[in-house]
Amino acid sequence: MYYVDPHIHMVSRITDDYVRMARAGCVALSEPAFWAGFDRGSAVAFRDYFEQLTIHEPKRAAQFGIHHMCWLCINAKEAENVSLSREVLSIIPDYLDRPGVLGIGEIGLNKNTKNEVTIFEEQVDLAMQTDELILVHTPHLADKYKGTRMIVDILSNDSQVTPDRVLIDHVEEHTAKIALDAGFWVGMTLYPTTKCTTDRAVDIIERLGTDRIMGNSAGDWGTSNPMAMPDLLRKLRARGHDAMAIHKLVYENPLRFFMKSKRYNFTPPVPVRETLAP
Ligand SMILES: [Zn+2]
Repeated sequence: MYYVDPHIHMVSRITDDYVRMARAGCVALSEPAFWAGFDRGSAVAFRDYFEQLTIHEPKRAAQFGIHHMCWLCINAKEAENVSLSREVLSIIPDYLDRPGVLGIGEIGLNKNTKNEVTIFEEQVDLAMQTDELILVHTPHLADKYKGTRMIVDILSNDSQVTPDRVLIDHVEEHTAKIALDAGFWVGMTLYPTTKCTTDRAVDIIERLGTDRIMGNSAGDWGTSNPMAMPDLLRKLRARGHDAMAIHKLVYENPLRFFMKSKRYNFTPPVPVRETLAP
């Protein structure tokens, strides 16, 4: 069965991961801009990173038959540095017109600080001015509920924002419904240690349904699993979900969301159905 990984940081992964993902049925992925594991010293480093995301990584993925799309932003961790963030925000429009750039992301909150909120709001403004989709990172563990609540409130109170054009990521049992009820799309990150396991993700799906929801590996330079999506697919099958419902969750839902971007440039091997059924 074909699948899409809507959130994975391939610049941090080895080529063998592309081989394994392609063998397991991965046909497309999207790579949000994120923290490199260290704070970058200047906006010039972000120019190089955006070049990598928009030009070089798509070429590497294509060698394995995987279509690569991406998102641009300054991440929540480095947003603590407001002057650097504003400099990065000023260069993002230089890269936004490149093919396969889906929008602004992953923006959001990390420790729910004032500076993070300031830069989050400025990046939302940029996305609205340029008519972009938004991909949102929600905080980890103890900060997650409060941070998700803050993000949903900021976005819901902004009359420019259409919830159907925003994906709120890293949701768990206590945050998925908050985002879904407000009209947003949600992503569940399948991490080996923190965030969701595949069993917990299937529990959430069984409780909340299959609309506007997707899984992702968020594979990066830390302890993570680039094969988390095929693991989810197998878990859904083991728990009795039928092929069409699985196809909708691991393939159609991410593509339905991505298609809202004006630079979506993927021709999927199986066309995405118009309706959300089943
Ligand atoms: Zn990420």
